[in-house]
Amino acid sequence: MSDLPPERTGRHNLDPHLSRYAARTAGMTASEIRALFAVASRPEVVSLAGGMPNLAALPLDSLSAQVAGLIADDGLVALQYGSAHGVPVLRDQICEVMALEGISAHPDDVVVTVGSQMGLDMVTRLFCDPGDVVLAEGPSYVGALGSFAAYQAQVVHVAMDDDGLEPNAVREALDQVAKSGRRVKFLYTIPNFHNPAGVTLAVSRRAEILEICRSRGVLVVEDNPYGLLGFDGQTYPALRSTDPDNVVYLGSFSKTFASGLRVGWVLAPHAVREKLVLAAESATLCPPTLNQLIVSRYLSTHDWKGQIKVFRENYRERRDAIISALEQYMPTGCSWTRPDGGFYVWVTVPPGVDAKAMLPRAVTARVAYASGTGFYADGFGSRQMRLSYCYPTPERIKEGVRRLASVLEAEMDL
Ligand code: PMP
Repeated sequence: MSDLPPERTGRHNLDPHLSRYAARTAGMTASEIRALFAVASRPEVVSLAGGMPNLAALPLDSLSAQVAGLIADDGLVALQYGSAHGVPVLRDQICEVMALEGISAHPDDVVVTVGSQMGLDMVTRLFCDPGDVVLAEGPSYVGALGSFAAYQAQVVHVAMDDDGLEPNAVREALDQVAKSGRRVKFLYTIPNFHNPAGVTLAVSRRAEILEICRSRGVLVVEDNPYGLLGFDGQTYPALRSTDPDNVVYLGSFSKTFASGLRVGWVLAPHAVREKLVLAAESATLCPPTLNQLIVSRYLSTHDWKGQIKVFRENYRERRDAIISALEQYMPTGCSWTRPDGGFYVWVTVPPGVDAKAMLPRAVTARVAYASGTGFYADGFGSRQMRLSYCYPTPERIKEGVRRLASVLEAEMDL
């Protein structure tokens, strides 16, 4: 049994099933973000907490005609089971999408998943025994930390700066884990428009990090849901494009099309692919055929690149709004990252302010954010917060930051 208190383990004495749970459930706790969701969704609260994509620009009329047409033309296929590997035509199209970031892949090496979250779960399931170490940026994506905890992997965070993961910090982390006698199974990284840090791994660091991992026998798991959302239309060479045999790549249509369809993919080294398909089969039998065919039709009939450009422009407008509001309102002593794409700004507050403890007071002042501690596996991050600018209007973002700044000022006066 874990020594953690019930609020960390989710195991309460009132639960009559307590003695039945598998040991691995000890690491399963509700994320702070989810716990906040109900309050933060009230209309009077400006929520800078969640990372919901802004879908308002989707062409709903033509999409609904397409879906109706799909069912009329091909309903008996669309509503039937499919293969765990994914619909072949969609796997071909996914290869075209990945080519935009320099990846040349065979469609057989693509496995379609129920969002990239399922890819994270499967990759952890395939590679991690309890006690194995996963290196991850500090801070890192909360959903990935949840998957690592569910398989009882231990996370060792690696420092980042404005250019992303620091190669020397990767070396040091590997040395430190080796000394402790544990084994690093993979480096989990979000190279582009990081969630939650908002930074991008410098192109000049990419080959070095790949070389460090390859030479130490450590796999790289590259999670790239935001790569096509660079505000100037810029893309970066995927890690996978340089080292196909040592990188597992996770992709998603959640940010570039529709998150509710839950269609993502894993591009695995050829040798891993078969196990991945078996893992997917035991998890879901197959990803939803209808949703895969909706994505496939969308890619073949819509100007999907034009649609991504529209999304990017929306997000750029919101990024501009949040950065100018931070500059205008935030008290001295606060700092923040300046994202060139994606959804998030990572804010550091002055020493003495605890962003987690402050959150209920911020919600009372009708603004919500995600406190930094949720993005670390080790309790770090109490002086940090993630602000998501993807969803509210620029006016609401400005008002939210104004409210946040006044809560912070009051906190600093305490
Ligand atoms: N990875 C990262 C870095 C994310 O930000 C998200 C969603 N917030 C995911 C994976 C999961 O995305 P999905 O399952 O919707 O593809």
